[in-house]
Order: sequence, then structure tokens, then C-alpha cells
Amino acid sequence: MMFDGGIRDVLIIGAGVVGCAVARELARYDLSVAVIEKEPDAAFGTSCRNSGVLHSGINYAPGTLRAALSVRGNAMMDGICAELKVPIRRTGKLTIALDDRDLPGLYRQYEQGRANGVPGMELMDNSAMRRIQPGIGGMLGLWTPSSAIISPYGLAMALAENAHANGVEFCMSHKVESAAMSRDGIFEVAARDAVGGGKKTFKAKTLVNSAGLYSDEVSRMLGVDDGTIYACRGEYFVLDKRLEGALNTLIYPVPGPNDPGLGIHLTPTVDGNILIGPSAEYVPGPDREDCSTTAPVMETLRREGRRLLPSLGAGDYIRSFSGNRPKQTPPAVGGNADFTIEGARVPGFIRLQGIESPGLTSAPAIAEMVGDLIVRRAKPSLRKNFVAGRPGLAERFSLLPMETRIELAKSDPDYGEIVCRCEGVTKREVRDAIETPLTRPTLAGVKYRSRAMMGRCQGGFCLPRIMRMLREEYGFDGEGVPSATELMRVESPWL
Ligand SMILES: Cc1cc2nc3c(=O)[nH]c(=O)nc-3n(C[C@H](O)[C@H](O)[C@H](O)COP(=O)(O)OP(=O)(O)OC[C@H]3O[C@@H](n4cnc5c(N)ncnc54)[C@H](O)[C@@H]3O)c2cc1C
Repeated sequence: MMFDGGIRDVLIIGAGVVGCAVARELARYDLSVAVIEKEPDAAFGTSCRNSGVLHSGINYAPGTLRAALSVRGNAMMDGICAELKVPIRRTGKLTIALDDRDLPGLYRQYEQGRANGVPGMELMDNSAMRRIQPGIGGMLGLWTPSSAIISPYGLAMALAENAHANGVEFCMSHKVESAAMSRDGIFEVAARDAVGGGKKTFKAKTLVNSAGLYSDEVSRMLGVDDGTIYACRGEYFVLDKRLEGALNTLIYPVPGPNDPGLGIHLTPTVDGNILIGPSAEYVPGPDREDCSTTAPVMETLRREGRRLLPSLGAGDYIRSFSGNRPKQTPPAVGGNADFTIEGARVPGFIRLQGIESPGLTSAPAIAEMVGDLIVRRAKPSLRKNFVAGRPGLAERFSLLPMETRIELAKSDPDYGEIVCRCEGVTKREVRDAIETPLTRPTLAGVKYRSRAMMGRCQGGFCLPRIMRMLREEYGFDGEGVPSATELMRVESPWL
């Protein structure tokens, strides 16, 4: 997308799930909207590195934004996912008191849930819990049927692509380095091109800071120094699909009042894997995006995994990853602060800071709130030709009924060729991922959109095929070809 240097109505910094939800919400109005993102695609930050759970709202103190926006966001998701063809599974969740010591915490969650308007909650004894999850332990459980699972990057990319189809401009691979307000009230934002190295200046009447782990730095550029963001890492193991079906629901321990996360647990994913994690340790060094996995935590996760799922074998761990929470509380304080959503300190500058969990769940409700702030100020009319839906299959090809798959393969031979054997991904799906109109292709983008390279062999079979497609069919000539090590790190956004 070429930027012409004109003044946009709204500029959003950060294409995580929150920035993309805001972009799509604003696309409903007659507003010119642009998004600047330092990575080459949407959702390459914290939004692709989390549990993918739509929380019910039991964990957050009544009266907080986290409580109100998670309940509202959760309720909005079925409609959004139907429009954007994003798979969602309402698995429900059991929070389990293992013994008497956990009971006060469990009752606290129940009371919070009631105050927050969480629908359908039930306290269950062990026999009722076993009807949901055979063999489960624990003396008392809190059942929240609105808890659900979703692909976090799938949602963010779908929001971005739909916003883009409705006229929102995305400028990827541009890192915002400075921002200021001119005397006539226009924001001027300078961003460096991560590929070409040049600088671009963007101008806008309203600026939305949705920069996640760096939201405090962006605020400081505008003279708002309201605390620091601390990265708090959560590490995971991804388990093989052999265990698909081992979990009927989400099963969580009762978190302590000052825990920085919700405790290590098992989470089924919409794609049939199970995650063990996340841990919660503040990142020790200065790099807030240091998403390493560490030997001691991996060992703890293995131990917890065997305890929670005794049938786990050594060969079931197919990958590890981690994601960093943008916390407003320093290590010495721990726990969680409420989201900061504020638009009054500098007129036209909307700050979204400390959007840690449940930021994925809350994203559409945060977008609604930001939309209200902007619409009240700019008073735009609704766009008449807003298209809510997205083209493409409603389900992954491999999950469609056989007759539908045969029909599709007859109409397009690329549906008849499997590129990724582990996940059953067809050449057409890889092509669609490469050809996304949102941005130029990267291996990570192809992976997140198509699921190629995400199976048991982690790209051993399909990566060379995808590379050949990119070279031979899309003309990538190998300029800047990565080293073998870099190539095997399929996240490497080198293309
Ligand atoms: C371990 C873990 C587990 C979690 N589990 C859940 C869960 O199950 N359910 C749930 O609801 N939430 C969960 N969360 C929280 C959720 O992931 C986040 O709240 C959400 O992803 C935040 O989205 P965002 O768009 O605000 O941030 P991000 O996804 O981080 O997006 C911010 C974007 O801004 C870009 N950016 C930053 N600085 C600049 C700059 N200077 N110039 C240009 N671009 C910039 C970044 O590259 C990034 O893409 C979890 C988080 C973690 C870490």
C-alpha cells in the first residue's frame, strides 16, 4: 500500500488483535484509517503467542475494564467469527478446587462472575464434573459454559483483512520512532521502514496507541509518561494431535489473588493440539520481545503435563513457544493492573496500555469503546458499502465433508494437491495465504494462515515445497536468502 502523505482521520499504531479490531470497527464509518505495524504482518506480536482462550469474565474484579470488556467481548465473538469465517469452539471451562485450601478462591471467582454478569455459571461436585470430563479430580468446580477457544492469530488476521477490504490502509514493516502534535492539532508520526531503511511521515487527526509491549514508549513520545510496561513471559509446550479428544473442556486451577497469570493448565486448541502452560516469569533482560523458552520452565511444564495428563509420552511434545504479557505492575508488585484505555490527556490521542489477558477476549469490546470515543469527536456517518464478511472457505479444507472436498478439487486442481501432509493443507490454501492482499508473504504468515508447517514434522515435509512454490511460481529470486538455520526457524520473516 502506498501512502500519499495526506492527513488521515485516524492512525493506529500496532496491528495486534486489538489494533486490528479497532481498524475493523472504524471501517464501518466514513473515515480514512491507516495502521502502522513494525512487523511484516498482523498478529506477529503477543497476539500470536497466547492460549487462544475466550475468557468468561470470572477472574476480574467487578467494576474493572477487564471484567466489563471481557464479558462483552466474549459475547460478541460468535457473530464476529461467523462473519469472518474464524472457527470458534464453545468448550466451556472448569476451574477446579483440589482441596479445602482452594475453596475461598473458587467462591471468590463465583461471586466475581455473578457481579460481572457471566452467563450460565454452575458450581459442581466431582460427579457432575466427571460427566463433562471423565476421570477428572478435584472436590468442587466452577463451570463457565461461555469460555471458548479460538485461533488468536486467525482472528487478528481476519479482522485485519476485512478492515483492509473495507478501505483501511496497512503499512507493515514500519516502526514508529517519533510522534508529536503540531500546533494545528495534527499528529505527525515518523516510522522507519524495516526493509528499505527509509523514513516515512504519517499525519492524522486522531492517533490510537495500540503498541502492546511498547505502548508506554509510544505514549512518552506524546509527553504522556504514565508508568512502564514490564514483559512477563508465558512459556508453553504444544502437544501432538494424537491426544486430540483427551480434553472435552478447559481445565484450570484456582489462581492465587496475586498470581501474574492463571496458573499452568492444559488448553485444547481449535486445531486439535493441546497446549501445556503458560508459566509466568518477568523477562530478566531489557528485550521485551525476548520470547525464549527456558530449560527449567520446560522441565516444570513436562512435570505438570504428566501430572495433568498421565497418558503423555516423551514423543508427544512437538514444539515450544512463549509470549510476553505487557504488564503495568513491576516484578516486586506482581498481580495484574486494569487495562488503561484513555483519551483525555492529549486531545485525539487514545492510549491502550497494559492490554494483557484477557486482551484477546476483550478486543472487539475495546474496539467498540475506542470507536465510541472517535465517533463522538469526529461525528462521521456510517459507510454505506461496509462488507462484514470475508471470502474463502468457512472451514479448513481437510475438515470439510468428503463430497465437498471432491467438488472443490474438481473445480480447482490446487485443492487436489496436498502440500502439508501433517495438517492436510492443500496447495490452494497455501496459495491463498501467499496471496493475501494485506501484506507481502512471509513464511510465518503462510504458516499462520494455512497451518502448513504447524504439524508434527514442523515443516520438514512442506517447507521445501513451499519454498519451491515461492521461487518458481511467485518469482522470489532468492535475494536475501536466509541461512539454513534461519530457514528452519519458520517464523523468520525474511521474504
Ligand atoms: C502467555 C499469554 C497468554 C495469554 N492468554 C490469553 C488468553 O487465553 N485469552 C485472552 O483473552 N488473552 C490472553 N493473553 C493476552 C493477549 O494475548 C493480549 O492481551 C493481546 O494479544 C494484546 O493484543 P494487542 O494488539 O494489544 O498487542 P500485540 O499483539 O502485542 O500488538 C501490538 C503490536 O504493536 C506493534 N508495535 C509495537 N511497537 C511498535 C512501533 N514502535 N511501531 C509500530 N508497531 C509497533 C507490535 O509489533 C505488535 O504487533 C495472553 C497473553 C500472553 C502473553
